Amino acid sequence: MNFYPKDSCGIVGVFGTPNAAKLTALGLHALQHRGEEGAGIVSVNDYGQFNHHKNIGLVSQVFANGALDRLIGNMSIGHNRYSTTGKSVIENVQPLLIDCQRGKIALAHNGNLININALRSELASAGAVFQTSTDSEFMLHLIARSEGTLSEAIGEMMSKVSGAYSLVICTKDELVGVRDPRGFRPLCIGTIGGTFVFASETCALDLMGARFIRDVLPGEMVFISKDGLRSEKSKVTAACSFCIFELVYFERPNSKYIDNSVHSYRFEMGITLFKEQPCEADVIVPVPDSGTPAAFGFASASKIPLEMAFVRSHYTGRSFIQPERGMRVDSVKMKLALIGELVKGKRVVMIDDSVVRGTTCIERVKNLRDAGATEVHIRVSCPPHKFACHYGIDFPDRNELIAVSHQGESLCKALNVDSIGYLSEEGLLKACGGHSFCMACFNGKYPITPECAK
Ligand code: SF4
Repeated sequence: MNFYPKDSCGIVGVFGTPNAAKLTALGLHALQHRGEEGAGIVSVNDYGQFNHHKNIGLVSQVFANGALDRLIGNMSIGHNRYSTTGKSVIENVQPLLIDCQRGKIALAHNGNLININALRSELASAGAVFQTSTDSEFMLHLIARSEGTLSEAIGEMMSKVSGAYSLVICTKDELVGVRDPRGFRPLCIGTIGGTFVFASETCALDLMGARFIRDVLPGEMVFISKDGLRSEKSKVTAACSFCIFELVYFERPNSKYIDNSVHSYRFEMGITLFKEQPCEADVIVPVPDSGTPAAFGFASASKIPLEMAFVRSHYTGRSFIQPERGMRVDSVKMKLALIGELVKGKRVVMIDDSVVRGTTCIERVKNLRDAGATEVHIRVSCPPHKFACHYGIDFPDRNELIAVSHQGESLCKALNVDSIGYLSEEGLLKACGGHSFCMACFNGKYPITPECAK
């Protein structure tokens, strides 16, 4: 059986404060956009006792009714889950917690491993019994089976797994932050007085009241204990392949990447988009939320007026990460309302951060036309998605990508628009500071060959 679990999530770790779980929950709340299907926290007290609470639902739902009061301890890790395989079951909600020869270990994972079939058969033939259908459990098994120190065990695990993983791990006395050698997913370190925290994005540090120290580097293991902070480098080295789609879509605009806010990268994408794909129109309409900064950039370069004609309901999930296609269409209708008078009788250029399957786009174009827009043009602040992502984002099947099945006139017809223009790969790279990125979903150049393509 082909076993292909996928997830891309938000993770938090806290060390050195009473009620670490409450701070962790605050961090998870700031990272809610990275996963809305389930959440969990494991806490550890001074006596090495572990407490665990997880469930399906949003952070505010999972930790209602005093759940946090029961998660006592001055160290904790937390996780927001977004699954893409329909397995929205409580067993797969993290952190995962096991009791093994080295004591209890909890782990929370953001990313997706790509050699899971090999890992699964190796572990199964060595007698491993799996309690979840997540790839994250393989890492926990590998750490548990090693006879070396914790850092040797994590190092061994890193030499065996392949793919995208940012991790927070806790034992009875240590908190560890780990990033895979290519650094596909983000992970940063912050401090509040003598308390250390890890978080997927800096927006979580802001809400937790923590000062940003630095990112965990690709291939780095950062150990935090009563003795302070210690860094070790994995023996596995590789070129950095940070996911550029984190900057286009996933991260919150107030998060930082290198020295700038995600908002500023998106603004720059919009400026470059106008230079590459100019459009004559009466009004610019952003698709909120992640399309908004690029629309402001497009407006500043084009001098076309911008109207926030789409009004977003903040009580529904991000649409393309819902597991069922039927659910996705319903959530689109629930998510955006249009102020029709702002587009009636006008040529509209709608700015979106991406057009993946096209379902949400078709619905928005229909809204604009129904409201009386005379022309609808789309400008997209990234290149066309033409390839699957194997590193943790939900567009695994090429057949579902509209830019694969339709181009040019055929694409305009499918979306019912007058024109469509995408930001080029070069333009996107330039807008993002020209750093070293993964762009495989646009160009098919996979930093690590996925198991299914071998
Ligand atoms: S393939 Fe695309 S979405 Fe996946 S890690 Fe690379 S840039 Fe990100």
